[in-house]
Amino acid sequence: MNRRQWFQALAAALAGSATSRAQKGRPLANTNLSKPPLLLADFQPRSMLRVKRTKVAKPRFPVIDFHAHLCWTDVLKGEETIEMLATPKEVLPVMDRRGVRMMVTATGGFGKGTQQAIDYWQKPRPDRFIVFTEPWYAKTADPGYPKFQADEIEKAHARGAKGLKVLKTLGLFLRERIKEGPLVKVDDRRFDPMWEAAGALGMPVLIHTSDPVAFFLPTNRFNERYEELYRHPDWSFHDRDFPSDEELQQARLRVVARHPKTNFVFAHVGKAEDLDFVSSCLDRYPNAYVDIAARIGELGRQPRAAKRFFDKYQDRIVFGTDAVPHGIEVPQQIFGDELYQIYYRFLETEDEYFDYAPAPVPPQGRWCIYGLGLPESILRKVYYQNAARLLGLDANWG
Ligand SMILES: [Zn+2]
Repeated sequence: MNRRQWFQALAAALAGSATSRAQKGRPLANTNLSKPPLLLADFQPRSMLRVKRTKVAKPRFPVIDFHAHLCWTDVLKGEETIEMLATPKEVLPVMDRRGVRMMVTATGGFGKGTQQAIDYWQKPRPDRFIVFTEPWYAKTADPGYPKFQADEIEKAHARGAKGLKVLKTLGLFLRERIKEGPLVKVDDRRFDPMWEAAGALGMPVLIHTSDPVAFFLPTNRFNERYEELYRHPDWSFHDRDFPSDEELQQARLRVVARHPKTNFVFAHVGKAEDLDFVSSCLDRYPNAYVDIAARIGELGRQPRAAKRFFDKYQDRIVFGTDAVPHGIEVPQQIFGDELYQIYYRFLETEDEYFDYAPAPVPPQGRWCIYGLGLPESILRKVYYQNAARLLGLDANWG
């Protein structure tokens, strides 16, 4: 037996035992020198578990999808134009098949763009579509912006907008000279009248701040979202002058604290990797809520903590998917039948180890999820009652 054969025999004998695992951070040595290893990008393992696979075609109760993108505006461009990403004719049949009673198209633009979005989605079907408005970021540096922006919220409300959507643009992209200069902070005082106006008009603020924690770390072999960041290097906030996740989260909390009469819904669970932190936010601020959009991958890999979270905060969580029609870049968000079925399976069943997105490889990180099997009393609140309350809808849907 030569040295290599001896090592191979040893590795085979230890395979599966804890002692054969490499020390943390040190990759296992390649003992098979006859073949080059498979590239990570080509690895698509199929689970051999024989476990229950429940198809949930319809939700237990009607659903309000509080977080979707049926239209889109390049908010930093400053033009009031808005692009419709689908037609009601395409969207409504999916909603009907999957029991989605109402959809919020959050990115409803600003100025005339909001009017267009309302005319296109909400006016013809006010029973099915809700449009939110967005801040007019390109005017942030103008003198008089604070009042202008508050007035714009009032105008949008008069046009029919039911809420305000704030993208992660605030905190991560918007700069003093729009695309140049220092980043504008989430708790910049110029937005104070805007938050107040939204609260006074009963418009909830759907606010996305920061991003997955891994996006703030180097894109290297320790990064749990390595493949996602490799595919989208522009999603990384690791270097340059970006604030840390912690700074962004604290800035958002200062806004929430300063405007207690305004309801803030933290998009994407706020920080789905750290439910203790999110719990502390919800405990401290009764005007804070969360949506679960695009984060069942995070919630579903910590099913016990997630279930406790849903139990404790059952009045503060709203259903959302972050659905984007034709969103091939983001498989976890492609609007369609499959997307909703995965969410319903996650919330309603106790199925184990299934994909959180319709994709050959889990797109946000290589893991699978576990269903929460929530009771009806919680499902009813999360599916529509909490959202209806925030939106001021009179919904008695069972
Ligand atoms: Zn979104």
